[in-house]
Amino acid sequence: MTGELSIDADRDRPEALPTAAGRDDLHSGRLYWPTRSGPVRMTPTIPTPAALDVLVLGAGITGAFVAHALARTGLRVGILDARGVGRGSTPASTALILYELDTPLTELCLRIGSIAASEAYLASWRALGDMQRLVAGLDDDADLIARPSVNLAVRRRDMRRLKAEAKARSELGIAVEVLGQRELRERFGISRPGALLSADAFEIDPLRLTVALLRSALRAGAALLPRGSVDTSALVESARPFRLRLAGGGEVTARHVVIATGYETPDEFAQVARRVQLRSTYVVATEPLAGDPWPQRALLWDTGDPYLYARTTSDGRVLVGGGDEVFTAAGPRDALIRTKSHQLLDQLCDLAPGIEPRPAFEWAGTFGQTEDGLPWIGRHRNWPDVHFALGYGGNGITFSLIAAQIISHGIAGAADAREDLFGFDR
Ligand SMILES: Cc1cc2nc3c(=O)[nH]c(=O)nc-3n(C[C@H](O)[C@H](O)[C@H](O)COP(=O)(O)OP(=O)(O)OC[C@H]3O[C@@H](n4cnc5c(N)ncnc54)[C@H](O)[C@@H]3O)c2cc1C
Repeated sequence: MTGELSIDADRDRPEALPTAAGRDDLHSGRLYWPTRSGPVRMTPTIPTPAALDVLVLGAGITGAFVAHALARTGLRVGILDARGVGRGSTPASTALILYELDTPLTELCLRIGSIAASEAYLASWRALGDMQRLVAGLDDDADLIARPSVNLAVRRRDMRRLKAEAKARSELGIAVEVLGQRELRERFGISRPGALLSADAFEIDPLRLTVALLRSALRAGAALLPRGSVDTSALVESARPFRLRLAGGGEVTARHVVIATGYETPDEFAQVARRVQLRSTYVVATEPLAGDPWPQRALLWDTGDPYLYARTTSDGRVLVGGGDEVFTAAGPRDALIRTKSHQLLDQLCDLAPGIEPRPAFEWAGTFGQTEDGLPWIGRHRNWPDVHFALGYGGNGITFSLIAAQIISHGIAGAADAREDLFGFDR
């Protein structure tokens, strides 16, 4: 088989995947990341396998982490994507890599108990180190750069929560610093009532990382199947191995299937899809700016709801995102891109008054959140050989790595306590 990994996602429009919810596409507007990397072509050396140990559905960053982890264990792994590599939500991401979950530790303790909440935070924190080590072993560092994360208080009263949060995290051995108003202005030039500063964070190019992971997986023997879909109805039937008809003709069999389909859970798993709330979010990438827009090019996000977040890129732009809306239909979502872009740039100017940002890329994307801010990872008791890797939330990419670890342990028959934290029986 001759396969191609193209990361030039603007070259041809991604296909819309019809779903039960009637969504059409995951993003619109002009994305930034696909313009950074030219098309990458690869030729897998093995023929399309008819018999797989694992079929990974979805070739975004989650499918890439999963395929990379599994292929290195010697399993026969196939990767299939209905649109092609890196054409889902991944190229729309701002890719701030944080361990800090959407739900603060103090709040998560109240929701799920302090032991589980602490373990969830520690799992996420450790995943950052794992990701840095993993990326160091790839043939492309995907522009991974360590940055401080600064969680800005929007209102004075948020400081009380941030202080309690710092205390709770430091009791777990996770170092964070509380910055008061003056210290925040002196160290980061930002006027807000205060902030929580964490040294453990980094930025990446999500599309380059996806491609580097897949390249490594293919080198380890994984096969990239031609772009297309499979008839997923076979996944809820009892016969094993799964016999999956490919939309383009032919069939593959697989002992296990990994659902790494991002915000588009196949219709057969409606009860899983119901556990996520989809919304729309907006991002602007500015024209390159002269100099650093704020000290240390920190990753910024605030305590607002929805929260505002910003980072820089290696070519000197600022990516600023937020303005979430509760709908996902493309019509109303896309109609708001200009308005949201203006609002985001105004908010950026307020944050970093010394800069004069001009928009270069503006886009809208679907985004998924869970009630407790945790992902859905692992097997569901109804479908024991189907493994879900649904890393929802603002740090979905951190969850993608955790999903890859849990699923590869699960398929190898090794216990992973994190499945209790992030799985369907929690
Ligand atoms: C605007 C925005 C900003 C974000 N910012 C951050 C951030 O700063 N930090 C962070 O960690 N996360 C962030 N996220 C979240 C993060 O980007 C996502 O969690 C991550 O990209 C999801 O990757 P994925 O591989 O699971 O999904 P996707 O990239 O969507 O990949 C899933 C793939 O599955 C394919 N597919 C779907 N259904 C099928 C099927 N039935 N058969 C075959 N293929 C199928 C799709 O074509 C798609 O390519 C952000 C997301 C958005 C939209």
